[in-house]
Amino acid sequence: MTLKTNPKLAGVIPYDPAAHAVPYQLSANENAYGMPDTVRFQVEQALKTSVFNRYPDPLANDLRDEIASSFGVGREQVLVGNGGDELLFDIALAWGGAERIFLNFPPTFSVYAGACEILGTAVENIARTQAFDIDVDAACTRLASGDIDYTIVTTPNNPTGNLTTRADIIRMLEASDALVVVDEAYMEFAQLSADPATEPSVADLIARYDNLLILRTLSKAYGCAGVRLGYVVGSEKAITELIKVRQPYSVDTLSQTIARVVWSHREAFVPIVESLVHERERVIGTLSIIDNVRPYASQANFILVRMNADAHAVWEYMHRHGVLVRNVSDGGLLKNCLRITVGTPTENAHMIEVLIQAISEIRGRK
Ligand SMILES: *Cc1c(COP(=O)(O)O)cnc(C)c1O
Repeated sequence: MTLKTNPKLAGVIPYDPAAHAVPYQLSANENAYGMPDTVRFQVEQALKTSVFNRYPDPLANDLRDEIASSFGVGREQVLVGNGGDELLFDIALAWGGAERIFLNFPPTFSVYAGACEILGTAVENIARTQAFDIDVDAACTRLASGDIDYTIVTTPNNPTGNLTTRADIIRMLEASDALVVVDEAYMEFAQLSADPATEPSVADLIARYDNLLILRTLSKAYGCAGVRLGYVVGSEKAITELIKVRQPYSVDTLSQTIARVVWSHREAFVPIVESLVHERERVIGTLSIIDNVRPYASQANFILVRMNADAHAVWEYMHRHGVLVRNVSDGGLLKNCLRITVGTPTENAHMIEVLIQAISEIRGRK
C-alpha cells in the first residue's frame, strides 16, 4: 500500500540543527568547557548506583524540590522536562492548537513557531525594532484585545543576545490573562555581567503573576546539552496545565541523577560562566575593529555579527576551514548576520582568524 499521511504535515520542514562534524563547534551555543572535573567525578559516582530496571520518578520530585527551594517556592511550582525544548512543546500543546493564537516577536528562537505549525496554532508576529527590542506598545495593544493565548519573551534573546527590561515584561503580564513565558535559557550569562541594581531575571515575579512562566535549562551555562534537562518555574495553576499534556517518563533516570548532582554543585560553574562572559567581551572588542564586521552587544554566550559580505558565502568558507557557526541571515532584520557561540580562547582566536580571511576572500572576489 501507499501510505496515507496527514495533510496537516505536508508543508512542515523538520527542525534542522545544522550540525556538521568539523573541529570548531561554535554554532549551537553549547558550553565548550563542559563540567568541572570535580562535578564530573560526582556524576560518575552517582551513576554507579543508579537503578535502570525501574521506571524513573515521572515528575522527578527530588530534583523538583531542589530547584524549587532555590527559587523559594514549592514543588508544585516547578516542572522539569527533556530539555527546555520539551517544555516549550508542552506549552505549545497546553496553550495552543486549532483556533488558538501565539504572539511571537521575531527574530527569535524558531522552535516556538515550529511547534505552532505542527499543532495548527495561529502565529501572530510583531517584528522587533532595528535594535532588536520588542515593540512593547504594539504587543500590549495586541494582548489587550483578549484573544491571544500565549506569548514567549526570550531574554537574552536568541539569536540577537539582548535583554527585555523588567518594566516591559511587567507591562505585558498586566496587559491580559494570556500566558507569558519568559525564556531565560541564557540568563546565567546576563546575571554575571549585570549591574547589581538591575537584576535581568524576572523569576521573582512568579509570586505576583499567575500568568508568568520562567523557562531555564542546564544546556547552556551548566554544560549539559547532552543530558537534556530543562525546567520551568511558575504558578501552580500553570504547572498543572503542563502536567496534563506531558509525557510521563520523558526525563529518564540518568538525566535526573546527573541534574541533581549538577544542581547541587551550581557554584562550581560560576568561574566557567565568568570566563565565557570575559571572552565574549574580548571577542566583541576584537571583532569591532575589523573592517566590514559589526558585532552586536550580547548578554548571552553567543555574538550576533553583521557583515558587509554575503553571510552564506562567509559561513561556507568558515565551514570549509573547520569552523561551524550559525547562519541566521534572512531578508529582513538579520540580513547578512551570523550567530557565533563564544568558545575557549583558542577556539575564539581561530574563529576570528578564519572570519577575517573569509571576509577578505569573499569581498575580493567581486
Ligand atoms: C537552547 C535554548 C533552549 C533550550 O534548549 P534545551 O537544550 O532544549 O534545554 C530554549 N530556549 C532558547 C532560546 C534556547 O536557545
